Amino acid sequence: MSSDLNPEDRPAANTAVVRDALRRPLHDLRISVLDQCNFRCPYCMPEDEFHADYEFLNRQQRLSYEEILRIAQVAARLGVSKLRLTGGEPLLDKRIPDLVAGLAAIPGIDDLALTTNAMLLAPMARKLADAGLHRVTISLDSLDEDVFRRMSGGRGDLSQVLDGVAAAQRAGLSPIKINVVVQRGVNDHTVLELLEHFRGTGHIVRLIEFMDVGNRNGWRLDQVVPSRQLLEQVRERWPLRRIDQNYPGEVARRYEYVDGAGEIGFISSVTEPFCGDCSRARLSADGMLYTCLFANQGTDLRESLRNDADDEELADILSQIWLQRADRYSELRRPELAEAHVLRKVEMYRIGG
Ligand code: SAM
Ligand code: SF4
Ligand code: SF4
Repeated sequence: MSSDLNPEDRPAANTAVVRDALRRPLHDLRISVLDQCNFRCPYCMPEDEFHADYEFLNRQQRLSYEEILRIAQVAARLGVSKLRLTGGEPLLDKRIPDLVAGLAAIPGIDDLALTTNAMLLAPMARKLADAGLHRVTISLDSLDEDVFRRMSGGRGDLSQVLDGVAAAQRAGLSPIKINVVVQRGVNDHTVLELLEHFRGTGHIVRLIEFMDVGNRNGWRLDQVVPSRQLLEQVRERWPLRRIDQNYPGEVARRYEYVDGAGEIGFISSVTEPFCGDCSRARLSADGMLYTCLFANQGTDLRESLRNDADDEELADILSQIWLQRADRYSELRRPELAEAHVLRKVEMYRIGG
């Protein structure tokens, strides 16, 4: 196996960087704090599946903040420098600034972000910034009221979300990224209007291909608008030029408007996969560690934590998981299998994208 621990390549906090079977380092940990959500975006948590009787995780089943902090600390020792809080909807947890404060204090963490639908962001943005959050990514699929409502499963309020964007800006949670999942025939006709709105604001809109995550969102290849096609549409309106990655493993292909109105990104998991540099692990709210967004199995860290594993044991478990990792689902994707929804895959609302 070509994986190794490379003692020369040390992260900030004192342990060797761990590399997987394809020599990819572990840089990025995405932490889902809860599986519940106040939206029912059909591409993620369709209402007919996630109805009033659906049983979400209870408090006991979810990791406590102390448990999350321990895993994050150990991950930082293995090379993780980027943390992202996600869900479900992370802001449904009102105590989340306390968790942010704990994570911000971990040596070696130089990027601490949170992904949210922003419905509850306006009153919390300042507290999150004061607690040490660096920036937010806001999911906003359309500025057309009807399209927005449909894509939030009838639950979102567009003006409240825009208030959240403004509050995040005032609190300095920037650069703010705006995630737009583009679905053919649903919101693709509203993309240019959304880009126009955010041009010149400093916020970075990222156009995401609709992905076949999980098995419940009815994914079909013909609903995917390939990034290449979107890029051409955008270019016809505003000239763009390609810009370099910020760091290896960045998921978005970056462009800037030639007229100086800022940056946009394309995330093309379906048509132009980027597994080669993927350095992300994902922790679900009940403590399962997944090494791919499309994983069909994870490792139960909650059990180890609650059986009193010490930090060395946890570090060993994490390293072993990463050393054995060879995931590259998107590069191997067979759309006909994905459309048939026969593959067992973890759902997006459990691991947060
Ligand atoms: N609730 C928060 C939110 O929506 O920002 C955080 C969790 S959500 C699962 C994280 C990201 O995953 C969002 O930006 C969402 O748009 C994206 N997402 C969910 N399902 C997706 C899908 N099928 N294809 C592409 N992106 C998806
Ligand atoms: Fe909720 Fe985010 Fe999934 Fe929409 S994408 S249902 S806001 S978790
Ligand atoms: Fe990473 Fe898996 Fe996505 Fe490939 S498919 S980029 S390995 S999360």
